Amino acid sequence: MKVRRAKIVGTLGPASNTVEMIEKLIHAGLNVARVNMSHGTHEGHAKLIANIRQASKNTNREIAILIDLQGPKIRTDKLPDGLKLENGSTWVIGQSKHAKDYPEYKDCYIPTIYDKLVDDCHDGARILFDDGKLIAKAVERDRDVYKIEVSVGGELKSNKGINLPDCDVSAPAFTEKDREDLMFALKHDIDYVALSFVRRKEDIMEVKSLLHRLKANIPIISKIEKPQAVDNLEEILDVTDVIMVARGDMGVEVGNHLVPSIQKDMIERCNERMIPVITATQMLESMTDAPTPTRAEASDVANAIWDGTDAVMLSGESASGMYPVESVQMMNDIIFEAEKKPKERPLLRHQDLSSVNSALMVASSMVAEKVDAKRILALTEGGNSCLKVSMFRPQTPVAAVTSSLRAARRVCLFWGVYPFIVNEYPEDTPGYQRAVIDEAKSRMKLYNGDKIVLTRGDGKFFSKGNSNSVKVDIIKDSPKVLGSSEVIEDATDEKKSIHLDHSVCATCQNCVSICPHDIWQSDPKTKMTHLNADNVGRCSMDMECVRTCPTGAIEIIPKFD
Ligand code: PEP
Repeated sequence: MKVRRAKIVGTLGPASNTVEMIEKLIHAGLNVARVNMSHGTHEGHAKLIANIRQASKNTNREIAILIDLQGPKIRTDKLPDGLKLENGSTWVIGQSKHAKDYPEYKDCYIPTIYDKLVDDCHDGARILFDDGKLIAKAVERDRDVYKIEVSVGGELKSNKGINLPDCDVSAPAFTEKDREDLMFALKHDIDYVALSFVRRKEDIMEVKSLLHRLKANIPIISKIEKPQAVDNLEEILDVTDVIMVARGDMGVEVGNHLVPSIQKDMIERCNERMIPVITATQMLESMTDAPTPTRAEASDVANAIWDGTDAVMLSGESASGMYPVESVQMMNDIIFEAEKKPKERPLLRHQDLSSVNSALMVASSMVAEKVDAKRILALTEGGNSCLKVSMFRPQTPVAAVTSSLRAARRVCLFWGVYPFIVNEYPEDTPGYQRAVIDEAKSRMKLYNGDKIVLTRGDGKFFSKGNSNSVKVDIIKDSPKVLGSSEVIEDATDEKKSIHLDHSVCATCQNCVSICPHDIWQSDPKTKMTHLNADNVGRCSMDMECVRTCPTGAIEIIPKFD
């Protein structure tokens, strides 16, 4: 079964907020649903969250919910439809509540939700609208409003971002609205929270300590979009759980020409420090109103994968575009193709891999690759051990075996890791194996002879999610019982007896290709391997077939006088 490793985060909005639509997105490959608190009401968000959970239930696939807090994002307020800002025209910008105080500007008033814009601004400062598509210059302050002159015009819509790259914005990173939105999100049992416009580690620590006080264990995604955050990345990496390369505002703030190198550098540093990273914004932008992307966009997604990103994100394409399902499907297809050319393993040079858990996770990746295992089944309670194995970038897909719904959803963001919920696993090893391996066989389409690598914690100090053992297992339909005539083929001469156990034969035909004496043959119709009893006398007992059999299905037992 083909497994995609990098994950897809899709922003949900008016084009994709129904249960039916979310089900389609999940089938197309959505792993994490982003709810953007910059738009809509709590009532609308509550409905959206309920719809995501319902669609996840209907499709029987876990989806993580990421709540993206607006932060001190400066936006336009409600504007009349089709408001055109002509090049060279003059407008007035000010807080929404002041609009009524300036009747003389009623036809040219641009209301903003940000109450400090006029104070933070200065003459000559650039004012950029809608991800920098429209450009204006502050000309002159008039009491509580600023007169601005448009140099690059266009249509301006409600709720569009405003950037002030030349101004020292005084708003705190975690606003009062963010606090209310976070409280709302916690009540709805969300999986990740993203902080916008962080500038330094204190911005993250403030929210971390609030979450700590509330006993809410929610990982924080720091959106890097301000030049100060790019400069302070190292200290931010010390405290954050996840990074988002928020290229939209970053491009506006630092200039688009710097975005590709910042993206590459940030992904590399996140990989080295085992911190998952999401690459976001305008990845398939033209699919907002076209069914296919441009070549440049397809290359952008593939290059982010080759840079080593853990996830790629859709914004307007899936939230308000005409082709949300096609966008997710396209992203899925591009990632699949890109992953056929694997990236080198990150060096993890900043990691101390001497903890038992970390070392075990590295070992399980290596063992799985060496024995060509079909899956790593990692028993986990909170998802942390799966994060470690994910950051080692194993070629073998990882199933996060857990009875915790929270952990199952959290791993949806992790590269190469998929949730595998088991209702309850018995502590004793045979019981665990029955519960997990039997489930894995049917759910992951594993066949007789397929190898799997199991990691788990067993013992007094290592339990459940805290792994201290790696084990290779082989899928067998039934235990090998020599002598059961239904599954065993055998042949004997005076020197030996040879057995082939069909219950464990992988039909790999290694034995057929390695034996020079035609002891083994493959049925061209059924592809089953058979023992050619007529040639048993020719067997030289070099045991090559026994050694190359991956499942132990062949036995050659010498006879002694
Ligand atoms: C961005 O700026 O790239 C981003 C993801 O943030 P938002 O969509 O909230 O503007």
